[in-house]
Amino acid sequence: MTAPRMFRIAAIPADGVGKEVVAAGRAVLDALAEGSAGAFAFEWEEFPWGCEFYERTGRMIDDDGLDRLKDFDAIYFGAVGWPTVPDHISLWGLRLKICQNFDQWANVRPVQFLPGITSPLRKADDTELDWVVVRENSEGEYAGLGGRNLSGRGPGGEVAVQSALFTEVGCERIMRFAFDLARTRARRKVSSVTKSNAQQYGMVLWDDVFKRVAADYPDVETESVLVDAMSAKFVLHPEDLSVVVASNLNADILSDLGSALAGSLGLAASANLNPKRRFPSMFEPVHGSAPDIAGQGLANPIGAVGSAALMLEHFGLPDQAARLHKAIEATTAAGILTRDVGGSASTEDVTKALIDGLNA
Ligand code: ATP
Ligand code: MG
Repeated sequence: MTAPRMFRIAAIPADGVGKEVVAAGRAVLDALAEGSAGAFAFEWEEFPWGCEFYERTGRMIDDDGLDRLKDFDAIYFGAVGWPTVPDHISLWGLRLKICQNFDQWANVRPVQFLPGITSPLRKADDTELDWVVVRENSEGEYAGLGGRNLSGRGPGGEVAVQSALFTEVGCERIMRFAFDLARTRARRKVSSVTKSNAQQYGMVLWDDVFKRVAADYPDVETESVLVDAMSAKFVLHPEDLSVVVASNLNADILSDLGSALAGSLGLAASANLNPKRRFPSMFEPVHGSAPDIAGQGLANPIGAVGSAALMLEHFGLPDQAARLHKAIEATTAAGILTRDVGGSASTEDVTKALIDGLNA
């Protein structure tokens, strides 16, 4: 017998429902490995970083934390943030620190409609809808450029400037990533989103690079849409979408809209990828720590389990990812749903159904 393919995963549940959904995702992945007849296995190490750690130590992550993470095959993340710690400290101190240091410049957020869950769109064929938001994850509006207390420039009172950074290299690599992804999908189409009618420098550069890159992919259909129009399109003509590529802020907002259209923020999965694989990539549900429902067994684990499926694809196990998706669909189709999608099942009930669904 050959040794199983071993994947080393760093688990960072962090805060609130992050702990519950990471535990659920781990249980499902371990059940999957157990059923693989020794073909592959997961070795986990769990790290206690997050807001409680911050309150004890004054740091969101250990000083040598990044060093300890860098050799893992992947990071499986929960959610960061808690009302007692300012958001910019918790977010920048942990999640964005990992994204930036490990150069995870592509953030992939599929929007998937599931059987048994009524989407607010209520189109006859909602479950046929399926598109992916590709978010530029390293620059744009979240580059952290600007400052407060810039005196002498305004009519009085404090002045703050928040700038967005767009580089040709940053735009080009995320667009090539989006076009390459489109080539793997049934519908070969990339929609580029900006607000370049009002943001006349960075987003015009984005548009220029998009046109140039598109010329290398004549087999892929393209469109450029302003973000306000794209918001309407998500609701009115989602069947016209396949891959949507947008800057950090625009894609953040659009992907939340997409997951709400699919029925709940709790369903949405994401991958923060370091496409060159020099550093580990990070897989996490789109939702936050949800303090309003944390610790009550109400959290929907499907976003976290869908993120685990993206991790399996990254590991080169697409058949196993497909098994997870089938288990998710079987669970929602059977009406085993948490409260956010209209049911009364607990996190544990859904997790158990997902595990049963792996072997169905
Ligand atoms: P962040 O600032 O971290 O992005 P947020 O302010 O966007 O967080 P979330 O924590 O994602 O907010 O929660 C938004 C709403 O969605 C809350 O009402 C929360 O209860 C709900 N929600 C989030 N995640 C889940 C989940 N996994 N299951 C059920 N409901 C969820
Ligand atoms: Mg949010």
